[in-house]
Amino acid sequence: MIAMTAAELTLEKTPLERYVAPAKPSLVGASRAELAAMLGHIGVPERAQKMRAQQIWHWLYVRGARDFSDMTSVSKDLRAELEQHFTLERPEIVAEQVSNDGTRKWLLRLPGETVGERPHEVECVYIPETDRGTLCVSSQVGCTLNCSFCHTGTQRLVRNLTAGEIVGQIMVARDRLGDFLGQEHAKGPGLPTEGERFVSNIVMMGMGEPLYNFEAVRDALLVASDGEGLSLSRRRITLSTSGVVPNISRTGEEIACMLAISLHAVRDDLRNELVPLNRKYPIKELLEACRNYPGVSNARRITFEYVMLKGVNDSLSDAKELVRLLKGIPAKINLIPFNPWPGTTYECSDWEQIEKFSEVVFNAGYASPVRTPRGRDILAACGQLKSATEKLSVRERMALRAMAMTD
Ligand code: SAH
Ligand code: SF4
Repeated sequence: MIAMTAAELTLEKTPLERYVAPAKPSLVGASRAELAAMLGHIGVPERAQKMRAQQIWHWLYVRGARDFSDMTSVSKDLRAELEQHFTLERPEIVAEQVSNDGTRKWLLRLPGETVGERPHEVECVYIPETDRGTLCVSSQVGCTLNCSFCHTGTQRLVRNLTAGEIVGQIMVARDRLGDFLGQEHAKGPGLPTEGERFVSNIVMMGMGEPLYNFEAVRDALLVASDGEGLSLSRRRITLSTSGVVPNISRTGEEIACMLAISLHAVRDDLRNELVPLNRKYPIKELLEACRNYPGVSNARRITFEYVMLKGVNDSLSDAKELVRLLKGIPAKINLIPFNPWPGTTYECSDWEQIEKFSEVVFNAGYASPVRTPRGRDILAACGQLKSATEKLSVRERMALRAMAMTD
């Protein structure tokens, strides 16, 4: 039995407390302002900081430099200085799995030391499609919110990722796929053909609740969407939340990315069970925040995710209620077939039922794509991510859930 203190259970409030950052910081993930400040620390005079930061920014985010010696437009002296104080370290790939549909899942070990714990790891998944390549990025190691149908929620260890570790996942994917300027594209089944951008879209749908790590996620997404760097359009970045209402308007104001809501149920009693955070922020409040989401319009709709659980939330009256609830909100509905994981008692709805459900939604005027499960054979599909930590006991899960409700 693992005894946990309250401090450990509320790790989103005390992130990184058992984590020792690398002695030499990595420049990966730094914003322009941070880069300039870092240069200031190593003696670059103020008048030169902006220009130098701009040069290094280009090497970092456009060319994906992995070694300071690659930065040929930077003077030798400065390169040596940089080398002495900083690294270009990214998360390290400890395992790569390639699905027969081309989906790739990377288990990433995060830089730094962990005190008395196993190394901190997250998963990151790349999903190639004909018109895009989507990278599913994690925001936390594990998740404090124990949604009953989600594998990540069963993971004990939880800490917030830093902005650098979030950007680092995009960097690793681009490294691995040869997706930086001047690199040779990777080849393989399911991968796009030459000349196409491999990572064109980002979804914050990996491990963790991004709105419980707001500042780091925001800073990372602002780096990712910078037009002179990683250059991912904000319209191609989607942040998915289980419904942390107070941070929804901030997401629109400070990140201005697309929003997805993990709704999954149309009644509070059922949603309390599936998404326990609903006890704190019930459906009505959540939908109100969506109505007021900055920038929402018919051209910029909110995606409502709805996982199809057999006999739980998949009746046609649920479908009708879903349509009624979303009236007036510019919305898309994304039906997600439940992806099973070892130990779950839920089952995916029958295909016939998913089709009937989808028809009700479609007839009400919503595009209702059913998300094709990708990478199921390598446990890379939605909600199947879990880095290798042991399962929680029932008591620990209950305690975590209670803490999440009251903080
Ligand atoms: N924490 C955030 C983002 C990560 S989860 C959130 O909950 O929105 C990404 C999506 O996968 C969410 O919609 C989540 O509810 C869904 N999901 C979780 N477990 C799943 C499973 N086993 N099968 C299908 N979808 C799942
Ligand atoms: Fe966390 Fe999202 Fe999984 Fe819920 S569905 S436990 S919020 S990762």
